[in-house]
Amino acid sequence: MKFEKRTFFGGARTSRRAILKASAAGALGAAGVAASHPAFAGTAEAGRTYDAIVIGGGFAGVSAARELKAKGKRTLILEARDRVGGRAWSSTFSGLPIEFGATWIHPSQTLIWNEVQRLGISRVDDPNPDFAVFATETGGYAKQELTFLDRQDDLLRRFVEGAETYLPRAYDPFYREDLLVDLDKLTLGDRARQLRLSTLETNWVSATTGAYGGGFERGSLTQLAHWWALCGYNTETFHGINVTRPVGGMGTVISRMLAESGATVVYNAPVTKVTDIGSRVQVTAGGQVYDAAAVVVAVPVNTWNSINFASGLPAEFSRLSTQTVGVPTAKKVFIQVQGDIGRPLVNGKSGALLDLVLAHADKSAQGTVLIGFSVNPKLDVTSVAQVQSAISEVLPGTKVLSVKGHDWGKDGYAKGGWTFRRPGQLLGSLRAVRQPHGRLVFAGSDIATGWGGYVDGAIETGIRAAGLAAGLTTAGASARS
Ligand SMILES: Cc1cc2nc3c(=O)[nH]c(=O)nc-3n(C[C@H](O)[C@H](O)[C@H](O)COP(=O)(O)OP(=O)(O)OC[C@H]3O[C@@H](n4cnc5c(N)ncnc54)[C@H](O)[C@@H]3O)c2cc1C
Repeated sequence: MKFEKRTFFGGARTSRRAILKASAAGALGAAGVAASHPAFAGTAEAGRTYDAIVIGGGFAGVSAARELKAKGKRTLILEARDRVGGRAWSSTFSGLPIEFGATWIHPSQTLIWNEVQRLGISRVDDPNPDFAVFATETGGYAKQELTFLDRQDDLLRRFVEGAETYLPRAYDPFYREDLLVDLDKLTLGDRARQLRLSTLETNWVSATTGAYGGGFERGSLTQLAHWWALCGYNTETFHGINVTRPVGGMGTVISRMLAESGATVVYNAPVTKVTDIGSRVQVTAGGQVYDAAAVVVAVPVNTWNSINFASGLPAEFSRLSTQTVGVPTAKKVFIQVQGDIGRPLVNGKSGALLDLVLAHADKSAQGTVLIGFSVNPKLDVTSVAQVQSAISEVLPGTKVLSVKGHDWGKDGYAKGGWTFRRPGQLLGSLRAVRQPHGRLVFAGSDIATGWGGYVDGAIETGIRAAGLAAGLTTAGASARS
């Protein structure tokens, strides 16, 4: 019997190897610093010309800005919120540090892992669950031994069977495009039907497939298979990618990256209009117009249609934004319950209010804090009563005291949560939107060819976009003077 660490939508499994690896990593790293709001925003002048403007201060935007600064480019970040980080957002609840978005990192995600290590930030592993809760034949839920998770893994492996052949190169998902033509049309639900999964089996894999995808009929099989490929086609890494956290949270990591970049940031500056006039680009934010030779657009795909790209973009951009890439119903909620209820790992049924519930690494003064993930449009993450009824179904007798959550779909600067492509998007749109368009280059985890849906993918695209944008600034140098 072999357990692995697992969380995000899978919880944790015991892995001696993972624990040793994380301890070693923690020992090597220096102490983490407390998460902080970025306090430094250099002076930015509207009307002043920049070599490059980066729209959006998430991991993609900050990575792009840092690269551009390193190349000697005068760079400005325009960020809509009063903080950097975007879909990575460190906060507190019940006296504990929490993450409303990105939380975990893994050595296979080399860009973020090496970044954290280089910055001297320690890492820590989440503890394992004590027990699992799964759907039963009779329609309810029951506590299960952790060995039950192996049955779920068997189903998961069947879902992505053949990925070694049709996605043999994890960072080049187009390598066997010929084999993907039909597969990229399939939803996760299509795959479940192909496999003739029973309702109960579908419920058992729901939290690691349908919930990831924003529903069985929304997410594409090729996105799940792409993650599987990135994980080396094995369940140990697939679950293990969501176990280890940087101490101090993602807020610490991005604050340190931003400080290192030296880029100027204008906060509370939602960009509304981008006009590529051929020799320069004009960017309107908060009633001010900023000017640059090149622009990196590092906002979520789901928000692209909120910006007026006045000089026009190919149809794929608008189409992809309308279709959504980030899961539009993604939510995460922290739940303070009364007393110490141990460390559950609840896998919700397909369509449940909560898809996954697991325990926060630390206990608060009032007891256990649970973390719930949901893609159910009906869940109100501010409603104690609603969360109580969802929790009572899976953990009877548990009293919910308070909740704090974030509905990423209702967040106007995200319009969705983690990336999960829909059918047809891999072959139909991804390459087109990664191409520079005039003086604009797009970035963001949503359009990564590697770890889309993770911070690592955001960094990948930020570095790439900076390289492309830097070339454009050279081409526009004469026009600036
Ligand atoms: C609930 C949840 C859990 C997750 N868990 C993990 C995890 O454990 N590990 C992991 O690696 N990843 C995880 N992810 C995914 C990860 O958060 C994202 O992939 C990553 O943070 C995306 O970075 P980005 O820079 O591409 O986009 P974003 O982080 O969305 O950054 C885009 C930025 O653009 C800004 N913006 C938007 N519109 C405008 C505008 N008009 N003008 C100016 N600025 C604008 C936004 O405010 C934001 O700061 C999770 C995501 C969610 C939602």
